Amino acid sequence: MHKEKHTLIGPFKQILPMTELPNKGALKDEQLSIIEDGGILLQGDTILEVDNYKALLAKHPDCEVETLSGDLVALPGFIDAHTHICFAGTRSFDYAARNNGKTYIEISKEGGGIWSTVKHTRASSKEELVALMLPRMQKQIANGITTTEVKSGYGLNVENELKMLQAIKQADQKHVLDLVPTCLAAHIIPKENGITEQEYLQLILEEIEPRIAEEKLCKRFDIFIEDGAFSAESSIDYLNQLKAKGYELTVHGDQFNAGGSKVAIAVGAKSVDHLEASGAEEINALANSEVIPVALPGATIGLGCDFTPARKLLDKGCSLAIASDWNPGSAPQGNLLSQAAILGTFQKLSTAEILSGITYRAARALSLVDRGKLGIKFKADIVAFPCHDYKEILYHQGELKAAHVWKNGAKVI
Ligand SMILES: [Zn+2]
Repeated sequence: MHKEKHTLIGPFKQILPMTELPNKGALKDEQLSIIEDGGILLQGDTILEVDNYKALLAKHPDCEVETLSGDLVALPGFIDAHTHICFAGTRSFDYAARNNGKTYIEISKEGGGIWSTVKHTRASSKEELVALMLPRMQKQIANGITTTEVKSGYGLNVENELKMLQAIKQADQKHVLDLVPTCLAAHIIPKENGITEQEYLQLILEEIEPRIAEEKLCKRFDIFIEDGAFSAESSIDYLNQLKAKGYELTVHGDQFNAGGSKVAIAVGAKSVDHLEASGAEEINALANSEVIPVALPGATIGLGCDFTPARKLLDKGCSLAIASDWNPGSAPQGNLLSQAAILGTFQKLSTAEILSGITYRAARALSLVDRGKLGIKFKADIVAFPCHDYKEILYHQGELKAAHVWKNGAKVI
């Protein structure tokens, strides 16, 4: 078999490999290792070596060279560990209504909110959902994001939840961005036919999950634990049954009321996302667990509520991933870098903590061990920004756009 040729890309003014940083706890910028005038040696879609550009060139004189010009700072491709980008319709009406005095829960109880997204998503064909996702996926890639989690949860019945997951699978095949699908059939209790919480969770277990297993649509399940959604009591039993079937678990928890994080810990979920309402008790419990907290500043900016207590979580020793929660209702903006930078200013997070939250710590929240760092044998998913120093990237709060993006070793931007 012909051996794949080595390719050297560079030079980069700085490379932040994000290797050798701890998975949990607070980080100082002094802990960031920076390779000045660096290069990245690839073999196909895999990183072989990251070092000084000239040293690599001298060591590998026969390699192909992808020469770059201008000042560039390279980082691992970003990972957005929580989105809902498979949807139809808009919720601009809700946004205006909320800002005009109504609450998220009031709008939801009045049949607005999530129900208008469910209606539009149910009315769309699988092909239409794929067509709606592709430009959102392209925006992610252009923003330096090379892996994105996507949830179902606007179908809320057997046919439409499966349709959403099939659409996510198709979109993943059609676009270079990697998608990680998650079943969020337990997003909210569907209001037709007077179905109870217990009956609906049973329906997911008996009729949706077997089809997911058969068609290999996803390996993760999520549930929204909140007043007006699912109770902590019902969620534990539901999640444990899915865990017994081998699924990885994640939870929407502690968004408006605390409770979900306790469930996430009890069932051994991989992550618990939101946590805006977490207090000292929840933060301490999370710090003593292996559950990864995921902050969703896009929802805070969209709803005008509190930020996730990211500073306290890190100081207590937790890991922290940061994701966009891109969805039409509470987080329509969908710019992860911008949101992460803003979370950083409000929560006083170091650059190292923010960049970790959207690279290797986000990869861990999705159980992906092959990405999130620019290290040997890692996937060649790379983002490069047009600047001379890494501190420029967050400073511009998302306005400094990626100059280049490589996905699986191929330059896509
Ligand atoms: Zn969400």
